[in-house]
Amino acid sequence: MDSLSVIRKTGADLRVAPNFADYAGECRAFTWDRARAGLSGLPGGGINIAHEAVERHAAGFLRDKAAFRFLSRNAPARDVSFGELSTLAGRFANVLGQLGIAKGERVFVLAGRIPELYVAVLGSLRHGAVVCPLFSAFGPEPIATRVNLGEGRVLVTTDLLYERKVAQWRDKMPTLEHVLLVSEEGNTTNIPGTLDLATLMAAASATCAPAATSAEDMALLHFTSGTTGTPKGAVHGHGAVVTHHATGYYALDLHADDIYWCTADPGWVTGMSYGVIAPLLHGVTSIIDREEFDVERWYGILQDEGVTVWYTAPTAIRMLMKCGADIPRKYRFPNLRFIASVGEPLNPEAVRWGKNVLGLPIHDNWWQTETGGIMIANTPAFDIKPGSMGRPLPGIDAAIVRHLEDGSVTVIEEPDVEGELALKRGWPSMFRGYLNNAERYRKCFSGDWYLTGDLAKRDADGYFWFVGRADDVIKSAGHLIGPFEVESALMEHPAVAEAGVIGKPDPVVGEIVKAFVSLKTGFADSEELRRELLGHARKRLGAAVAPKEIAFLPTLPRTRSGKIMRRLLKARELGLPEGDTSTLEAGG
Ligand code: AMP
Repeated sequence: MDSLSVIRKTGADLRVAPNFADYAGECRAFTWDRARAGLSGLPGGGINIAHEAVERHAAGFLRDKAAFRFLSRNAPARDVSFGELSTLAGRFANVLGQLGIAKGERVFVLAGRIPELYVAVLGSLRHGAVVCPLFSAFGPEPIATRVNLGEGRVLVTTDLLYERKVAQWRDKMPTLEHVLLVSEEGNTTNIPGTLDLATLMAAASATCAPAATSAEDMALLHFTSGTTGTPKGAVHGHGAVVTHHATGYYALDLHADDIYWCTADPGWVTGMSYGVIAPLLHGVTSIIDREEFDVERWYGILQDEGVTVWYTAPTAIRMLMKCGADIPRKYRFPNLRFIASVGEPLNPEAVRWGKNVLGLPIHDNWWQTETGGIMIANTPAFDIKPGSMGRPLPGIDAAIVRHLEDGSVTVIEEPDVEGELALKRGWPSMFRGYLNNAERYRKCFSGDWYLTGDLAKRDADGYFWFVGRADDVIKSAGHLIGPFEVESALMEHPAVAEAGVIGKPDPVVGEIVKAFVSLKTGFADSEELRRELLGHARKRLGAAVAPKEIAFLPTLPRTRSGKIMRRLLKARELGLPEGDTSTLEAGG
């Protein structure tokens, strides 16, 4: 690491005093009990995320403060105060009660960034139901797979998404009893087999005490993808709120008067933990933009809304960089004081681009669905080593470990040595299981260490550097995509004999999904068939998951035990050495 490239922070870089400056001292003094004391807890004991996020503010002096400011192209901005959010969430909780939904039962939400989604999330948590977010760019197949794995009883979605993605698959989701629809046109919906949410809300009382949940009661179920098999539902309890609060303070440096913008979609874990929960906990106003990425719109929001803290993703930053430096020159960002990014490796150039163009470096941080909250971060007072993810937050014990032959792991003490990134169990938002899959959960741990599946290094100053994934999971535009899910959808096409899916490096979105397929006897490859397969995958999986490229191969390389060697497909695609091919089946 070239020390000249370190971005040294001075007082001038800190436009307000950061929440903490003495890293070593804060780490020493930190305990999770002390962090818990920053929240109120339920009056009768226990803890409930919605109570901490909304109720305690609605009952106090923040009642009339805007919790969310919803922006969209076709309507004026709509502010929703903590008080109003409490009323709406209370009505939603009562709607669930009237439908007979019990504590611990799953409510899926599938919508764009519309106010009703946020109300449904907070109302479900208040009721004690479990929130399972679905990304609105998923196609029918990933939606049905997750609803079934999560045994969803309720789905909250819009009339358009329902008709496009759910209606024809409804009979494949046997546990799904109630579909609550929001009309995208603002009408009353009247689709057979569904209920109109606005009508139910209007008739429901707003008074509803938060469910008596404990830290270990399931609150959130986030699906994440592995290399093989179906997606895994990572279970998080209400106690995760302690991490959300502490990391909002340490890693995002939230102050009470911030205007905060998290660009992540609440269909994914960042958009839930840091787009919904953490800012509410800190009583800050969040900007929620319904629209998709648009360079002028984004600079305009940063400027016009006076955003002070911005949490975004490398793909978005690279898209802004691609549009050049002339556009941002038209805007001013005097209020912006802290920028953070997560989800994929953040190139050093992107960190410096922030400093040159927006006046602030970008602060990378690292976490994953299973950790429930930010674990490693560059915080405002740290010097930044561009390309590094930063240092473990107070309360987080991170290490680089090596796997031993007996199945245990040992901590690598020497700096700059590559190994698996591991976290010592014990932080409150650590996932408590993969739903109905105890075996897969158990495999994530070795003794006290949770093994993240990421390869990384730690330098002599304690900064962590991402190296790559230890598995074949694909990261595209910040979203984890399981190759198996894509391969399965392709194999459902009558022409496909076998499919192997890899992440192909891309300068903007990190990786794109590329599929290799071999055809069944009687089918010949052609441009027409390639396009048909792309269309088939897109229809089933949705734009977020479907492959962008498909190539035909006569056969796919397999191990002798029959597994497709994606690693080899990738090496061949990239012209890299093929590595150990001793397990390759003859002729592959
Ligand atoms: P997810 O569970 O979808 O949030 O994805 C988590 C994965 O994203 C991690 O295990 C990493 O592979 C990757 N990731 C998250 N943050 C970073 C980062 N700052 N740098 C590099 N990779 C990251």
